[in-house]
Amino acid sequence: MDAPEIYQGHEIVRQEQNSKKKLAHEKGEGAPCLKCGPACEGLDLHFWRKICRLCHCKYEDHDVKDEDEMHHDIVLNLLKNRRPCTENANKPQVDLKSEPVIGEDVKANFIQVPECSSSAAMAKYLDSVPEDKAGHKGEAGQQYRSQQLSNQLPVHDFDDSYCDKLSDQERELMRAFNDKRDAEAAGQGNIKEKTEKELSSWVCEKCNENLYSGEVAVFAERAGKDKCWHPKCFVCDTCTELLVDLIYFFKDGKIHCGRHYGELTRVRCAACDELIFTKEYTQADGRDWHIKHFCCINCDTALAGKKYVSKEEKPYCMDCYDQLFAKCCQFCKIKIAADGKRVNYKDKHWHATDECFGCVNESCKKTMLGQQFIYKDGNVFCSPPCARKHLNK
Ligand code: ZN
Ligand code: ZN
Ligand code: ZN
Repeated sequence: MDAPEIYQGHEIVRQEQNSKKKLAHEKGEGAPCLKCGPACEGLDLHFWRKICRLCHCKYEDHDVKDEDEMHHDIVLNLLKNRRPCTENANKPQVDLKSEPVIGEDVKANFIQVPECSSSAAMAKYLDSVPEDKAGHKGEAGQQYRSQQLSNQLPVHDFDDSYCDKLSDQERELMRAFNDKRDAEAAGQGNIKEKTEKELSSWVCEKCNENLYSGEVAVFAERAGKDKCWHPKCFVCDTCTELLVDLIYFFKDGKIHCGRHYGELTRVRCAACDELIFTKEYTQADGRDWHIKHFCCINCDTALAGKKYVSKEEKPYCMDCYDQLFAKCCQFCKIKIAADGKRVNYKDKHWHATDECFGCVNESCKKTMLGQQFIYKDGNVFCSPPCARKHLNK
């Protein structure tokens, strides 16, 4: 049974917006899709959805090369604007006796190099990151890092010029949210090697295993100066991905990536991927949407107050759904409208009318709606004699 379920969008008055803000459309234009391969001709970014118009995959599913550059200012601002933790004014004990040597492998993993107890500790840290997740260990690692920058630090969570036409009020709320996040939650892990002299025990916050001398750990000062993690355990509490550039956001005893920190207090629009700062938004398919963005995925018609069909978690207006997916009636061969009554059996469909769903035998034509029927090679019959007559014809 795959009759589409038809829903009614909630009618809500749309807010008129007039400020014009540019989006980073042309970023990554033509980048090949890592999911679709040659089936996608290359990234063609939708104006506000931040997905590819051609294949509907996300921006970061495309092999976009300039992610570092795009995130450069965001990361530096973020780390500059954080407020020091008052409770651990005497910071984690990172003794910077020898300034770590910054080689290409370090640069390939950090926009801003984190504090580190020695260059040997840094080397151990880099070694501990799996090959396919380290920026300096080949193409897979670089791709992973680009994707994680995009995913964990969505540019539109940090810089309102990447957002779609915010009202003054939305912009104000977003700024307040950003200020609080940057000042109170954001931090970058420190890398430290446990030495023989270090007498206190180091226990990983994630796996609860002890760290021994010679091992390196990541410390996050906002969590407390004695809190540390194995490098492989320094992951977002929600998505469990390694925190890119060791950038974390601390809230209620847990560390998160930027994306999931945002979602602890705000809902995210399923269409544009921005956090929602409007008073009103709409819920459909178990997800949240800006009212202005609850639109047909195919033609962008607003669906608030309209009937729509959800297919593979994407909303379609009735016209587009019919055009793209409507099934033909097995009897009359005419398309069945998404909101038309239908009968489904096996993978076949009929208009739910006496005419279309009746015994196929010409001299019978009895309606089979609500009746027991015989199904043979795409035809329905009321009885074995009718079936025999038709098939011997
Ligand atoms: Zn996350
Ligand atoms: Zn939206
Ligand atoms: Zn449509």
